[in-house]
Amino acid sequence: MWRAAAVRTLRGARSGAGALRAASGAAAAQLRRRLESELEDIRGAGTWKSERVIASRQGPHLRLADGGAGIINFCANNYLGLSSHPEVIRAAVEALEKFGAGLSSVRFICGTQSIHKDLEEKIARFHQREDAILYASCFDANAGIFEALLTPEDAVLSDELNHASIIDGIRLCKANKYRYRHMDMQDLEAKLKEAQKHRLRLVATDGAFSMDGDIAPLREICQLAQKYDALVFIDECHATGFLGPNGRGTDELLGVMDKVTIINSTLGKALGGAAGHPGVPCPILSPPSAGGYTTGPKPLIDLLRQRSRPYLFSNSLPPAVVGCASKALDLLMESNAIAQSMAAKTQRFRSKMTAAGFTISGKDHPICPVMLGDARLASVMAEDMLNRGIYVIGFSYPVVPKGKARIRVQISAVHSDEDIDRCVEAFTQVGRKHGALP
Ligand code: PLP
Repeated sequence: MWRAAAVRTLRGARSGAGALRAASGAAAAQLRRRLESELEDIRGAGTWKSERVIASRQGPHLRLADGGAGIINFCANNYLGLSSHPEVIRAAVEALEKFGAGLSSVRFICGTQSIHKDLEEKIARFHQREDAILYASCFDANAGIFEALLTPEDAVLSDELNHASIIDGIRLCKANKYRYRHMDMQDLEAKLKEAQKHRLRLVATDGAFSMDGDIAPLREICQLAQKYDALVFIDECHATGFLGPNGRGTDELLGVMDKVTIINSTLGKALGGAAGHPGVPCPILSPPSAGGYTTGPKPLIDLLRQRSRPYLFSNSLPPAVVGCASKALDLLMESNAIAQSMAAKTQRFRSKMTAAGFTISGKDHPICPVMLGDARLASVMAEDMLNRGIYVIGFSYPVVPKGKARIRVQISAVHSDEDIDRCVEAFTQVGRKHGALP
């Protein structure tokens, strides 16, 4: 009898589990239909972003997994070619061998090694600030600062075209939020006046804007900040290492190093990245691209170590990343030759493209957006550029505003003049073919 009861119970459980699976199956099927329709919309709008697979190391010349070889790469943030620098690669290998693959811990438990402290000290010295704190990425640094620093008594004033990570970081904090029109100083002043009622005001801006290649008017921002008793925060991801006479960034370029209070930046662009220089074999690894930081007043850095959630609840930076960045900073602090080497190449590309009839957004920055307007045109032209051996990417909504699609070209110190001329020639041919040029 007990056996019959047990069989009944088992059957009940099975049918229960089956019914449960059927219910979740219906929800999953509904979700699948919804997602597929959303994906179809993205494809239909011509804004699909596919990921091209690279079969070689990152660098100015690439081999793609689908067979394309000898491709010239114009879409990496490897502004100075330091991610390909033999000494940077060697430093990563040495750090890996001496300090291991990873810490398996957050910083405050058992994840701090001497190299982490050395790198933080070096970053602070590079930017001439009191202290610095490392994060797994600049996205994390931006996600972690506003919530830790600002309360409902405070206000943050943010450029409308700030990077997504600043926008997300600001969303997480409880401060009063003001968004000013892109680089519009009249609007910023109006918002600063409105924000006088709050305890503390923080103006937040990208130093250089990654989609437009334009540079924030930091002198004017700092003047307004002084007039309305505000602090200035800059994200220097597209400036650290190469803007300014010594590559210190936008604040050095515009002579306001003593007026900007907080800097966030990345180790994964000009200060390293993921590359091996052609002809410089790296037997163990290509250095990973990761790492970000905040640098500024010591009490702020101390507070971030106590309160900043992406710092407190995420693993320490792996030693190889720390080794790369540390060596990259040594090279930049030894000489400004690397930082200066890129400017002439940027100038060559910008002037030749303008002469060919293209509109290049921004000024004097290695981010050179070729403005096309139409999303499909940007995507088709980028594809055709690749057929001619030039790797560039089209950007469209939602990464940039609707109707402002573009192909973003990024110049690196390791491009040769011949690389740049080939790129301009390919643009001219492809532009004529697709009607972007007469
Ligand atoms: N801020 C800006 C302006 C960026 O362009 C990026 C990277 O795309 C980030 C922050 C995030 O940097 P990371 O790659 O270190 O997370």
